[in-house]
Amino acid sequence: MKNNSIKHLIRPHILTMKPYSSARSEFEGKAELMLDANENPYNSHINRYPDPLQMKLKNRMADWKNVSEEQIIIGNGSDEIIDLLIRLFCRPTIDKIRILNPSYGMYEVSAVLNEVELIHSVLDENFQLDSNILKTNWDPNEKLFFICSPNNPSGNTIDSSLINSIIENYSGIVVIDEAYIDFSDSASYISKINQYPNLFVMQTFSKSIGAAGLRVGYGMSSVEIISFLNKIKPPYNLSTIVQEEAIKQLDKINDLKEQIEEIKGERKMLFQVLSDLKIVEKVYDSEANFLLTKVNDASKIYNILKNKGIIVRNRNGQHHCDNCIRITVGNPAENKLLIQTLKSISNE
Ligand SMILES: *Cc1c(COP(=O)(O)O)cnc(C)c1O
Repeated sequence: MKNNSIKHLIRPHILTMKPYSSARSEFEGKAELMLDANENPYNSHINRYPDPLQMKLKNRMADWKNVSEEQIIIGNGSDEIIDLLIRLFCRPTIDKIRILNPSYGMYEVSAVLNEVELIHSVLDENFQLDSNILKTNWDPNEKLFFICSPNNPSGNTIDSSLINSIIENYSGIVVIDEAYIDFSDSASYISKINQYPNLFVMQTFSKSIGAAGLRVGYGMSSVEIISFLNKIKPPYNLSTIVQEEAIKQLDKINDLKEQIEEIKGERKMLFQVLSDLKIVEKVYDSEANFLLTKVNDASKIYNILKNKGIIVRNRNGQHHCDNCIRITVGNPAENKLLIQTLKSISNE
């Protein structure tokens, strides 16, 4: 993108709209008496509204990710970030977003909900993006390009030199969804957010940190984009309890390295064992914590597993995913049970 500011991409009414000013954002700091927000004086631990900008948590995250607090937006899961991005940039029935096909389902759901049209960039049979994408005449109304890397459901990363060229070439904002980056050997795009004003990187507590129940996803980008997102987000989108728990999760972040290594080791083991099964036609290389696995009959195997209490994701019907199931890498005991069960199905 040639332009340094992304202001021209923002929906015009958001530039001028007056955001909700919460009691908590009008007064910050310690006061003797807080009688400004109609809070109840009892139930002392959670009687106050939370910090709308989650500064304590952002302070920790800024150190961790080597960005400034003003370059971070935290959402009630990445799903909230996806929705906020679409609502910030896309005028309903006019603007469009571009997504990979196949990829994560929430981009499409959020777009459809907001009456925003989809443009598909279809991946090849190895789930790579064709370099011809660089010859695209971008639609003047396309505002966001969601690139999931490592991609869900395929597990591979999208070629990084191609992503670089797309960021330089694209007319709108490129969103890299790095939900699975910690399971990958590829570098994060966070280090490039200062270089590219139209780059937005998304990560989450749901996968490598193991805190999907917490609902914490976050985006990192220019101060300009983040401040617009802060303007439109629900003021109290993360509860006090969630903010505190997220900090506790970061306190033990170093212990997670071993766990991630274990999952990567189990992924390698599963890849080999699954590849040798008679019912398996192909296991796709994965840089995530799941394996897309092509079997002889996905619906049949999905149902047999389900009846034995093992739930996998049937991806049959998605582009290039005929007869594919997506299997999450579990702990060693879970993987052992899965393997035993698949072996018995295979030998039937
Ligand atoms: C799981 C996942 C997320 C995480 O979403 P949360 O709302 O943060 O739980 C984001 N993107 C992709 C591609 C995912 O697979």
